[in-house]
Amino acid sequence: MTSVPTRLPAPSEPATGEAIVDWYATAARDLPWRRAGVDAWAVLVSEVMLQQTPVARVEPVWRAWLDRWPTPSALAAASPAEVIRAWGKLGYPRRALRLREAAGAIAERHGDVVPADVAALEALPGVGTYTARAVACFGYGRRQPVVDTNVRRVVARLVHGRAEAGTARAADLADVAALAPEDDARAVRFSVAIMELGALVCVAGTPRCPACPVRDRCAWRLTGSPASAGPARRVQKFAGTDRQVRGRLLDVLRAAEHPVPAAELDAAWDDAVQRSRCLDSLLADGLVEQTEDGRFTLPRG
Ligand code: SF4
Repeated sequence: MTSVPTRLPAPSEPATGEAIVDWYATAARDLPWRRAGVDAWAVLVSEVMLQQTPVARVEPVWRAWLDRWPTPSALAAASPAEVIRAWGKLGYPRRALRLREAAGAIAERHGDVVPADVAALEALPGVGTYTARAVACFGYGRRQPVVDTNVRRVVARLVHGRAEAGTARAADLADVAALAPEDDARAVRFSVAIMELGALVCVAGTPRCPACPVRDRCAWRLTGSPASAGPARRVQKFAGTDRQVRGRLLDVLRAAEHPVPAAELDAAWDDAVQRSRCLDSLLADGLVEQTEDGRFTLPRG
C-alpha cells in the first residue's frame, strides 16, 4: 500500500499527531473509563464491553459491574450465570464469559493485578491486539499504538487517501505509531485522541471534515475526496436475526430463578427451526445448560 503524501504542516503549525492531541483537549467526551485514576481492571472491563456496544449502553453496566466485582478475583469467583445476568443487554454475551476467564487467569497468574505488558495481556483469554494495547496505554500510561476500526478509518483517509479503512493490515500499528508525538505522555494522549477523532469527526460514511483539526493536510481531502472503491457499506440489521433470537432466549433464562421447561422458551420466538438452531448455539457456546430433567438454565459453573 503506497501512502499519498499529505501536505506537510507549515513551521508554525503543530505536527499532525500534536494537532490531534490539541483538538482532543477541547473536544473529547467525558467518558468515565478515560478519567484519571481509573485502574487497569476497570479499563479492561470497559474495553471488552465497548468492542461491539455503544458508549451509552455500556456506561451503566460498567459501573454496576465494577461495584460488584472491583477486582479480577471477585469476578472469577462469580458463577457464569451471575456474569451473564450482569452483562444484561450489551449483546454478544460470550464476551462476559471470556472476561470471567481472563479474570481467573489474572488472579491466578498475576497476583490479581492486570498485567501491563502487552505480551502478557495478549496471553489472557479473549484479549487480542487491540485490547492488550488499549489496557497498556490507557490503564498504565504506556506508549502504544492502539488501533480500532475508528483509528484505521482515520489513517486510511488522512495518510493513505482512501475513503474507508478496508480490512485490517499488518502495517496499521506502524502507521499509527508514526503519527504519535515524540513525548511519551503526549503519545499516550494521542492514542485516545485519534480514537475519539474517528468516533466523533472522521466517522463512517460522510466525515465531518469542517470540524477536523487536520483537514488541511488530509490526503483524502487533498486528492479530491475520492469515493470508496469497495462495495457500499451495508447497515447490519438486527430484527429477525439469530442474534435477536438468542437474546430473547437468554432474556427468558435471565428472568427465571429456576431452570425453565422448553415450552417457556417456545413462547419467546415463533419460528421453531430458528429457535432450535439458536438454542443449540447457546448450548454450544456455554451460555445455556440443560438439566438432567430436560429443562434449561444459565450455566451454574
Ligand atoms: S479531513 Fe475529513 S476525512 Fe480527513 S481525517 Fe479529517 S475528518 Fe477524516
